[in-house]
Amino acid sequence: MNIDIVTIFPEYFAPLDLSLLGKARRGGLLDLAVHDLRSWAHDRHRTVDDTPYGGGPGMVMKPEPWGEALDAVVPSGTTARLIIPTPSGRPFTQTLAAEYAAEPRLVFACGRYEGIDSRVAEEAAARMPVDEVSLGDFVLAGGEVAVLVMVEAVARLLPGVLGNADSVSDDSFAPGAMESLLEGPVYTKPPLWRDRPVPEILLSGNHGAIARWRRDEALRRTARVRPELLARLDPERLDAHDREV
Ligand code: SAM
Repeated sequence: MNIDIVTIFPEYFAPLDLSLLGKARRGGLLDLAVHDLRSWAHDRHRTVDDTPYGGGPGMVMKPEPWGEALDAVVPSGTTARLIIPTPSGRPFTQTLAAEYAAEPRLVFACGRYEGIDSRVAEEAAARMPVDEVSLGDFVLAGGEVAVLVMVEAVARLLPGVLGNADSVSDDSFAPGAMESLLEGPVYTKPPLWRDRPVPEILLSGNHGAIARWRRDEALRRTARVRPELLARLDPERLDAHDREV
């Protein structure tokens, strides 16, 4: 997969050299390039923002550098899915991460200040798919952290990036058995720690019973912490035991 990130703070993306993502990049599974938006600002101060039309506080990112940046990163005759993080976008979910992981090329546009002049997304949409995406109902100082989150969520779904592909299917929200569910508690050795034993069932070796226990715990935790997710569960996928839990 190819990922391009356009930002005024390229240094923000140094962590993408670490851990799983760094390994994926070095192994050729992920080709990631970070571009400095100011390379497409031509005045002496390499200005990328200006005052908002209609008045009000703060500054807005100018369309010209963004237009030139997107022309250069996605030249005519090529395409990519453009993702613009913004609190006013559609929610970023595991389903969307999986959709992005199936794309050959993603471009992320990091906003700052009060955001990017709205004509940039409009104009780009004439030549490529554009998604305005929110990480949640809160406001960050800039799009860089949001892009780090999205790139990590997408990249760990790429074939070969995780050592054990099964860990993706057991995760919270994973399509299949975990759809709309939060993962329950997890444990490792020792079996007794500070008078707290690991639940007996996990030491039983009975894989069917363990799978049932894990599903029960996922249902209980989801009901307790995110009851609204349970409402989204497809009733067809619930068995009689699920209903008792
Ligand atoms: N004026 C904007 C509003 O109220 O919707 C907030 C702009 S915010 C200070 C600056 C940038 O941070 C945004 O352009 C976006 O790139 C990023 N950002 C802030 N909160 C975000 C969120 N919840 N999800 C995704 N991106 C966010």
